[in-house]
Amino acid sequence: MITKVEHPAAKLAYHRKNVWDCLGAEERDRVMKFNEEYKDFLNQAKTEREVFEAALADLKNAGFSSVDLKTGLKPGDKVFFANRQKALIAAVIGPEPLINGINIIGAHTDSPRLDLKPLPVFEDNGMVFFKTHYYGGIKKYQWLSIPLSLHGVVVRADGNSVAVHIGEESGDPIFTITDLLPHLAKDQIDKKMADAVPGESLNILAGGIPLAGEELKDRFKMTVLEYLHRRYAMVEEDFISAELELVPAWPARDIGLDLSFVGAYGQDDRVCAYAALRALIDGPVPKRTAMMVLADKEEIGSSGNTGMKAAFFKNAVREIAARTTSPYNELVLSKALSNSLALSADVNVGLDPNYPDVTEKMNTAWLGYGVVLTKYTGNKGKYESSDAHAEVVAQVRRVFHNAGVIWQSGELGKVDQGGGGTIAHLVAKHGVDVLDCGVALLGMHSPFEVASKADIYMSYQAYKAFFTR
Ligand SMILES: [Zn+2]
Repeated sequence: MITKVEHPAAKLAYHRKNVWDCLGAEERDRVMKFNEEYKDFLNQAKTEREVFEAALADLKNAGFSSVDLKTGLKPGDKVFFANRQKALIAAVIGPEPLINGINIIGAHTDSPRLDLKPLPVFEDNGMVFFKTHYYGGIKKYQWLSIPLSLHGVVVRADGNSVAVHIGEESGDPIFTITDLLPHLAKDQIDKKMADAVPGESLNILAGGIPLAGEELKDRFKMTVLEYLHRRYAMVEEDFISAELELVPAWPARDIGLDLSFVGAYGQDDRVCAYAALRALIDGPVPKRTAMMVLADKEEIGSSGNTGMKAAFFKNAVREIAARTTSPYNELVLSKALSNSLALSADVNVGLDPNYPDVTEKMNTAWLGYGVVLTKYTGNKGKYESSDAHAEVVAQVRRVFHNAGVIWQSGELGKVDQGGGGTIAHLVAKHGVDVLDCGVALLGMHSPFEVASKADIYMSYQAYKAFFTR
């Protein structure tokens, strides 16, 4: 047998490790089992409201209760703050005084999709369509000729709401946006990709049988309205107070002969949201208070009162501070925030050998090589990035090294190629130290995003280590 002797200098260089190489048989089984549970979660949570419901059910099962039911808060207490059935904060109170800071992990639960317009239904040439307005950054052509399901809520004029969920069960109808046949697509193919599919042509095919009675106007549309009235007791005006979202109708699936990847809609950013949720639930009571934030509206700039620009994050910290600290004053809040450390748990780009030109190989995350630490995001000279301090990155590296978490460094594309952001800068504005840390994806924002099962599992291990550091 030949023993390979490593040159002493070899230790000096940075090498990323493939996660699979580091896993024993038992741990590989745990990776696969965790991903089965993750796929189940994705299948039941395709909108921000559905993520909220699924996460809340998991938290309640794990002994978390609404903060409103508590009079005081003591170490070991598990509480949640629900924000309008869309955003959710959960915390496990640690024995350390809150003024020493909190370990925070923040992810977002909204994903790019097609929303129905306030008045969506029209008929044309014997067919009924729903008009849409896309949400978030999509490549519009990717949403043509795929099966779509309709999820959401209609709030009728009397204030009663009804949940809509069509296209996920095997007997359900689905919806689609038709594409142009290649035979007649000469002009379309010659266009720039951004102009090839106008936003106003993203109309959903929704029916095609006329209601009996030749004298009736819009008979095809009336069939659809009549169905909606029968099933949901709604009238056309109720669409105006509805939130109905079209998402890919397919379930999460394994990709590859070795089942190495998960392919699914909405992994940005439900992969990090799920890993953070499980890490908070499965971990022990931490020394410092641990807080998970699941925010809405990230894909459209974090605006609105369920997004990270809103007050609910700071209000939740204030409430915990006030209920755990005596005497309480605003100084406690500002000190607690500036002593806190946060991971902005969001996805990053993975190196895609099909598109090598847009990323820089050395600094881009590789799928299967661990959870990704991203010092900065932004575009054109790190614009609008919170650019984590070196000390913060070192602190998180230490936590991961000590816990045996396999991680790698990442960057969002080549300099001047484009870029993007996360909620990191919105956490940082409260004085919190923050670093981006999440899972690398291929096909980000497409209807079918790809992630490595090994990385998904490592993000869960990373978040567990971070909450209890
Ligand atoms: Zn994201």
